[in-house]
Amino acid sequence: MNNYINENALVLFSGGQDSTTCLFWAKEQFKNVTALCFSYGQRHSQEVENARRIAKKADVPFEVMDATIISHLSPNSLTDNKIEMDQEHPADSFPNTFVPGRNMLFVTFAASLAFSRDIRHIVTGVSEADYSGYPDCRDTFMHSLNTTINLAMDKHFLIHTPLMWRNKAKVWELADELGVFDLVRNETLTCYNGIIADGCGKCPACKLRKKGLDEYLGVRK
Ligand code: ZN
Repeated sequence: MNNYINENALVLFSGGQDSTTCLFWAKEQFKNVTALCFSYGQRHSQEVENARRIAKKADVPFEVMDATIISHLSPNSLTDNKIEMDQEHPADSFPNTFVPGRNMLFVTFAASLAFSRDIRHIVTGVSEADYSGYPDCRDTFMHSLNTTINLAMDKHFLIHTPLMWRNKAKVWELADELGVFDLVRNETLTCYNGIIADGCGKCPACKLRKKGLDEYLGVRK
């Protein structure tokens, strides 16, 4: 029995593989789901429009929140075209896609909006498997942030992280179980070069996505 089927949720949604899988997961768990997309000067402006298209197919309300401040916090290759994106994870530091505290800020912004809508469930696709090196994706941190947000807003939020322990192959498996394997494969945008579906095939995001897909297709019944 699902405990929350009569409650509403806000899903952090970018239109990528992970958050799209989370969106459809949330649709099964909650009564009403809203997709929240952050606009923060992404290299590829079509990311927001692609997310909007997917939300429409999912039949959920779609909202865009301006988070341009993110692009001013530290030089990073997610928002600055002049910085060439790291293709490998540097051994002794973060990849230059790293914006310190980005996930912390996004979840905090989402909670503030959720508060105003009287929504207590927040869903985010962060994962500690296939660990990106972003410390604010870790399970320990999400629990800590959940506590902090509850204290900050005097509210009992629940942050849900359905992908936390799933590697990319397991994320494909979940999409398949939810009946959206083809949609996720053909319509989501994960590629750092802004190409939907299977992407450019060369950037770190495409390589990780393909590795998981090959692994999953190898065991798919
Ligand atoms: Zn790519």
